[in-house]
Amino acid sequence: MTTQAEVDEIKAILTRGLENLAIQTGQKHLPLRKQTKKPMLNHDQISSASRFNTDARLPISGKYTRDTFKPARRPLPRPQVYYDASTSSSICIEPRAPPRVGHARPHSSRGPHYGHSSKFDTRAMRGRSLLEPPIKAAVKKNKDSAQYSVTLNGSKCKKPNNLKSTKSEAIVADAGEEGEEWSDIDEDDDFDPRESERTPGDGSSFDNYIEEEDVMDTLEDDDVAADDASDGYSIASVSSRTHSAKERESDDTVKEELAAIASRIDRASLGSRADTRVYKLLTTGSEEAQPGLTPSLFSNVPPTINFVTEDEKLTPLPWELRKLLKWRMSPITPQIVKGCIARSGFRATKKSNEWIGYWGKHMKASGFKGLRDYQKMNHIPGSFQIGRKDRLWRNLSRMQVHFGKKDFNFFPQTYVLPSDMKLLKRAWEDGGTKQKWIMKPPASARGIGIKVIHKWSQIPKRRPVIVQRYLAKPFLINGSKFDLRVYVYVTSFDPLRIYVFEDGLTRFATMKYSSSMKSLSNKFMHLTNYSINKNNSDFTPNEDHTACEGHKWTLKALWGYMKRMGIDTKAIWDNIKDLVVKTIISGESSITSMTKANVRHRYSVHELFGFDILLDENLKPWILEVNISPSLHSNSPLDISVKGSMIKDLLNLAGFQIPEKREVYPNLINNGNNSDQYKNVIMDKRCWNTHVEKHERAKHAFYTQKYIDDQCRASVVDLLTPDDLCILIETEDEFSRRGGFQRVFPSPVSSKFSRFFETPRYYNVLLEEWVNRYHRTPARGLALLEGYCGEKIHLRCNTDNAHIWTPISTVLVVKEQRTLSAPSKVLQSPTSNLKKSSSAHSLPKIKGKKGKHRVISSSSSSASLNSLTSRPPHPPFSYYTDNDSPS
Ligand code: ADP
Repeated sequence: MTTQAEVDEIKAILTRGLENLAIQTGQKHLPLRKQTKKPMLNHDQISSASRFNTDARLPISGKYTRDTFKPARRPLPRPQVYYDASTSSSICIEPRAPPRVGHARPHSSRGPHYGHSSKFDTRAMRGRSLLEPPIKAAVKKNKDSAQYSVTLNGSKCKKPNNLKSTKSEAIVADAGEEGEEWSDIDEDDDFDPRESERTPGDGSSFDNYIEEEDVMDTLEDDDVAADDASDGYSIASVSSRTHSAKERESDDTVKEELAAIASRIDRASLGSRADTRVYKLLTTGSEEAQPGLTPSLFSNVPPTINFVTEDEKLTPLPWELRKLLKWRMSPITPQIVKGCIARSGFRATKKSNEWIGYWGKHMKASGFKGLRDYQKMNHIPGSFQIGRKDRLWRNLSRMQVHFGKKDFNFFPQTYVLPSDMKLLKRAWEDGGTKQKWIMKPPASARGIGIKVIHKWSQIPKRRPVIVQRYLAKPFLINGSKFDLRVYVYVTSFDPLRIYVFEDGLTRFATMKYSSSMKSLSNKFMHLTNYSINKNNSDFTPNEDHTACEGHKWTLKALWGYMKRMGIDTKAIWDNIKDLVVKTIISGESSITSMTKANVRHRYSVHELFGFDILLDENLKPWILEVNISPSLHSNSPLDISVKGSMIKDLLNLAGFQIPEKREVYPNLINNGNNSDQYKNVIMDKRCWNTHVEKHERAKHAFYTQKYIDDQCRASVVDLLTPDDLCILIETEDEFSRRGGFQRVFPSPVSSKFSRFFETPRYYNVLLEEWVNRYHRTPARGLALLEGYCGEKIHLRCNTDNAHIWTPISTVLVVKEQRTLSAPSKVLQSPTSNLKKSSSAHSLPKIKGKKGKHRVISSSSSSASLNSLTSRPPHPPFSYYTDNDSPS
């Protein structure tokens, strides 16, 4: 017979399903009092958490560039000297100094621009030689008549259409007005109100905290004048002076630096086309300075903007490109982000069309609809599904109900009150009088409102609150409790790509731990929040990021300390990575639905999460919470060391690209194009194309069928469509820019997570199989992609049938793949293969045209691929690197 507890549990699951549906379809959330009850769960701990299989790891032993695996059959570029440093005449990155008038606006005078004429160079856009005198265009707004007059080389011409963009276009919502749903409030270690978002419901506002340096976000907006470079001002008050000065002397400096680099570039390796030369120039660093752009691993794929730390130097980009680097400031944009973007030449803007990057408040899902194709926002719609305490527990407990405690036993049992009151009561009574619980507000941070309790009378009867089992036996160091801050970065939810940063923070409680009931009210003993413990007079800071001193250590210092104690830190780190992937997957379904409904391009969103993790006495990691705006406030060398390098690596990994000028300024006359010479370094929207052809849709449907055998599934990477190529190129390029981040999904072991996805997703299947096939021989995979990129298949320029998927081509390859690699034989006996394939029965009958369907290894690049892969230019690197395990 069904017990009451089981009935409750079933009810709870059904209601949560409805609730999730409501969230996904954009309906209002159910109020807390109507929320469902938590299922009754068994609390037994399972100590052996699953671990990553690390046997497959290989040491990193080679670094690849796009040249490393360039197919040999491609003709070598004709040797040509394109730059003569002595005369500075043949190639000119900046054909003339950028106009001063109205361009680099002095920091102190940010007034409207009416009456200022703005000038820009239009030679290249009209296909004129760079050596010809420039055409001068000027657009002037008459103060009195509000009319525009436009001149080209001094003569009047037609008025530009709609030069004005309105403030109403601004899409970045003010959290104070529009923000909701998230507990975007971090507290990793230190609270800086300027860098933290408002806690929903806590009644506080960050408006009070805005300081001078943040006023830029609220400065009076200018109308868009014709001078596209006139807006944009220095980013951080600290760096602004130097940056402005740099801007003023930028023309000469950039020329000099690029000339110096040009003289060092191997001239013989340069192509004859100007755009190739410029690409090389801008993506090649020197001994003293890194390049302004990070090249793609592949041909015909644009580079990304390079970011460096305080100690590193960067070669500035030419003005024509740099003027497109604009950032949308928020009052909570952390200083560490401001510094990093300023070093790469970004300037702040408030104009909704101009910015390409933003780091600040979250916004309503619908607000993401306004993002333009070249804009990147540091949040993902629906991320509160894991960033709010109540949502996180609901998602994790749903997974526990579905998949069992063996896989989902890394979070303390939690009840969301008042809806789960009866369930809590029952668990409370079952647990006896000696148990301890911890009570938290459902969406808050910094330890606000948190209490460790042991009496039923301490539980509020109506107030929404979370009650969680207290992990009463933490692992102690020097008798003190501590927790870990782990930085997790998700570059995309579909395909899912998750990275974990190699370093993080260890935060200690300032009083020695005691299990006595009498000590429960002592926050310095039971809570590890910095904002709580800094108030203890015993608090000791730690300035040295390598030292195990004071109440804050780096994660690396902790691992070092533990290793000296003889602890297997790698096992702990593997368990943490396992926990991270499962937690993200628990919110994947809702987040992906919300993202698909509200974001046009996956380029536009990414998110950094701060995971708070506690180690128990058995060194098992437990998740305490996930922050969707982890504090990046850095007030010590230790903070700067961890967060500074993390942010630099994150921004590189994010892959910011230079937008096309006509995209940013569609209404400016004669401003349609970037100079031809920069064509190759500008974002190519075809790489982010979201249009999927009919045959590609068929492929997606085929490989996401419920019942598909492993062999057939693996054939997903046999014939790559242009859409597949874009995803693979993006994934490999991203991976090559990972810095100190370790990719935990996809990985060679990600198949063990497949069953946790509510819906199978094609791109995840593609990446999983790609990694499976090439993680031991990455050079092969990269060479293959490079072959196709050389032919511009990913840009859909080559329209032969070789990359058109049909079910038959899949079936044919499935069999052949296991036995031979010679592609020409694949199509020799189609019928016999068809019969043998287990998936053949379910396939529609399509006649294969002999020789038409090409499998990857039969492509025109296969010869060069074979020659390359038989003797790879560098030994292959592994998907896992040496630093994958804690140092
Ligand atoms: P906040 O978002 O306010 O920081 P947390 O959930 O991170 O809330 O909890 C604050 C601190 O309380 C943690 O850093 C940890 O030290 C302690 N804590 C939270 N939950 C538990 C738990 N279930 N068991 C033991 N300690 C906990």
